[in-house]
Amino acid sequence: MEEFEQFFKNLQKDQYFPRFGKVFQTDDYYYFLDMGTGKIAQVNKDVYLVLKALFETNNDFQSLGALSLTDQILKKALAKIRLGVEKQHILSAPLFSEVKGKATLSLDSMLESEVAHIILEVTEKCNLRCKYCIYHPTHLLHRRFGTKDMSVFTAKCAIDFLASHSQKNQEVYIGFYGGEPLLNFPLIKFSIQYAKSIFKNKKVSFSRMERFKDSKI
Ligand code: SF4
Repeated sequence: MEEFEQFFKNLQKDQYFPRFGKVFQTDDYYYFLDMGTGKIAQVNKDVYLVLKALFETNNDFQSLGALSLTDQILKKALAKIRLGVEKQHILSAPLFSEVKGKATLSLDSMLESEVAHIILEVTEKCNLRCKYCIYHPTHLLHRRFGTKDMSVFTAKCAIDFLASHSQKNQEVYIGFYGGEPLLNFPLIKFSIQYAKSIFKNKKVSFSRMERFKDSKI
């Protein structure tokens, strides 16, 4: 078992292990999504349970002891995962080492007059508790579900900032994010009315942002 523990430690280095992928299941099958290669593989239940435990505990190998798997089955599942690493290059997503593009060359001037999009996190609240949500307690690098709302003052300052830093754009965008943004609907209404009152010569578009989708209002 020690050789597997060392193998997974080497794989992780000092990184956050869950960034390598995600497991999910349907009624009948188990899957693994690898973030580095983009591959989705159907896996057996044992591999699923092992990966799930490693992701949820940031590669705490001791957590595997809590699984109801015999030593032999656990080793078989770990060997399968190791084979996937060696042959399919899973669990090996590299860290970003360099960011290139226009914004890296002229960021200051872009921030001065080409800001096109702001996103207002109008509330931390949410009436659901999706397990895949980045604010779910299993995602260790993000804040937990919260209870704060953005103030009118903050929203107004952000929209004023967009107005005074978007001279070169004909169109600007304001997104509403949360939590569940509709739980602070009064602030969304205020922001839309306020933006329409100050962006007289520009087209302004609004959208409701979510973790995985972006729906127009
Ligand atoms: S913020 Fe969105 S993803 Fe997160 S729990 Fe609420 S509805 Fe689900």
